[in-house]
Amino acid sequence: MSVEGYDAAVLGGAVSGLAAAHGLSDVDKVDEVTVFERQEYDEKRVNCGEAINDTSLVPLEKTPENGFVNDVDGFQLRVHSGPDRPRTEPPIGTANLSCEPGYICERDIVERRWAERLAERGVTFETGASVTPTRYREIVDEFDYVIDATGQPALSLKARGETESYTGDMVALNATVDGDFSGYESWPRIFFEGYIGYAWSFPKSDTRANVGIGWAGDERPDDYMAALREAAERNGFPAPDPDDVNIYTIPRGPSLDPKQVYDPNDNVFRVGDAAGVANRYQGEGICQGIRSAYLLCDLIEEGTPERYPDRLYDAMKSEYRLARLMRGAWVEHEDPDLLAAVAESLEGLSIEDVTRSPARVIRRVAKRPLVASRLVSDRGMLDRLYKSYTDRWEYGTTGTQ
Ligand SMILES: Cc1cc2nc3c(=O)[nH]c(=O)nc-3n(C[C@H](O)[C@H](O)[C@H](O)COP(=O)(O)OP(=O)(O)OC[C@H]3O[C@@H](n4cnc5c(N)ncnc54)[C@H](O)[C@@H]3O)c2cc1C
Repeated sequence: MSVEGYDAAVLGGAVSGLAAAHGLSDVDKVDEVTVFERQEYDEKRVNCGEAINDTSLVPLEKTPENGFVNDVDGFQLRVHSGPDRPRTEPPIGTANLSCEPGYICERDIVERRWAERLAERGVTFETGASVTPTRYREIVDEFDYVIDATGQPALSLKARGETESYTGDMVALNATVDGDFSGYESWPRIFFEGYIGYAWSFPKSDTRANVGIGWAGDERPDDYMAALREAAERNGFPAPDPDDVNIYTIPRGPSLDPKQVYDPNDNVFRVGDAAGVANRYQGEGICQGIRSAYLLCDLIEEGTPERYPDRLYDAMKSEYRLARLMRGAWVEHEDPDLLAAVAESLEGLSIEDVTRSPARVIRRVAKRPLVASRLVSDRGMLDRLYKSYTDRWEYGTTGTQ
């Protein structure tokens, strides 16, 4: 610890790490903040759909120079009968979900500009080298606070040999492509097509889009690239050049036991994907990561960082609950018509509602008694309802839950 105040190390300088550094630089009793990022910001490769649903969380002006390239009105869910459908078959159900503060971004630029802004505020950056488990131990000894924002699996868990602590993942592929997106530039599309997962086409402008596909279930294709190409053909977006495609895993939150987000002995805290808070239903993790980092910084400021696991869990519980129920509509029934009816009942809600407000979603579905009764007339679905309202989660298990 320095004489004047505390030193903090942030491991990983993507959205969650940058948010942590930003929050810490506002904490009076923290004198020095150092971010350790293995990539260089000028060359950073981004594995992400680049949709930031609440851009008010990023303290940058929302300009193209800062990477905020498409100010969208919302997202359109399109439910299809399956991947083998006739090419001309329209969706069997759609829902338009508004997202006022949402943008499709150039995420590498957002992160570079945010890092530049933080450097101007006095945050130190050590970039271009991975923190190894040995260096991690040294950092734990040197710094008063260590915030692990290295994604999933977290470096701090790797250092303890505990990478199996997470509850499964979702494999996803994405790339940026050129094409004509003028028909839906303001309403990026998410395609549900019968498998447990989805494809997406998120325009960055009328001629460029981030496109991709992800699978959350145990049934995954033998050839991921071919599956992406076929999804592109079916859904009317250009197939990316295989050399441009990123392949990645998305943690399915709540994928880590909340108690595991803090190591009191070493004063190590996990935020973002490292803490397993990405949304288990739709894969969104940027805002979740940023919020977790800001929450931790507020608690450090208050002098109660040990409350972080409980407070994070309280903040995320509605989202965990809703994600588990929404996944049930898919996993327990495997019925595209039912999913289409559920989607249609959500028409006009916001992304925030369908992500974090179970009561609003349940009220909407309940207005369609036939849909609601079909949904709950299933033991698996009732089990989900019961467990998610009695806080019984599934940490340490893998599979399609
Ligand atoms: C294909 C795909 C599409 C997605 N689409 C969206 C979307 O559209 N919207 C959304 O909100 N979410 C999306 N997500 C989820 C989102 O990308 C993650 O939840 C989010 O990136 C989590 O941010 P993070 O900062 O916690 O971790 P990460 O983004 O994983 O960042 C971890 C950082 O740590 C660095 N790092 C790792 N190990 C070390 C080490 N040993 N030493 C130093 N540095 C290290 C990495 O280089 C990286 O910069 C998507 C994910 C995928 C895979």
